[in-house]
Amino acid sequence: MSDNVVWHSHPVDQPTRAEQKNQRPLVIWFTGLSASGKSTIAGALEQILTHQGYHTYLLDADREENIRRVGEVAKLMADAGLISLAAFISPFCADRQIVREIMPDGQFVEVFVDASLDVCKERDPKGLYAKAERGEIKQFTGIDSPYEAPEQPELRIPAGEVSVAEA
Ligand code: ADP
Repeated sequence: MSDNVVWHSHPVDQPTRAEQKNQRPLVIWFTGLSASGKSTIAGALEQILTHQGYHTYLLDADREENIRRVGEVAKLMADAGLISLAAFISPFCADRQIVREIMPDGQFVEVFVDASLDVCKERDPKGLYAKAERGEIKQFTGIDSPYEAPEQPELRIPAGEVSVAEA
């Protein structure tokens, strides 16, 4: 965004929208290897929250995304008073840290969907690991590109060992 763009400050702000929705806006950020279960768990959580009357929005992508940009979108959703759920491999600590820092304190919840590479390769629902191992996909996280596990996530889910419901 250009430095010349100045946002107007309007009286209807995040606390007002949060109060109207009777919820605490959050970004719940799911990070983990491809096939670790991010999308499945985020989707299940969204269903539960919606059923309980919360207002949510799920951001989910199969492929590598520009994390900074997705983070800005998640932030906007939270500013609108929503509980936004983001499911992205987001393999680099520095990228996730950028998103944490653009959020107001306490509104970024990092969830490490922790399934081992072996488990993910075994699941491989879209055959992506097989392709990466044959060299047909380059820079695939876990194969020829690193995954940097969160050091202090708000939550770690042992996603190779628990059911989706338990997760
Ligand atoms: P991601 O979004 O991390 O790439 P997905 O949510 O698409 O992963 O899950 C990949 C596969 O693993 C899917 O086939 C899904 O059904 C399965 N799966 C997800 N979570 C679990 C779990 N806790 N136990 C067993 N299988 C799971």
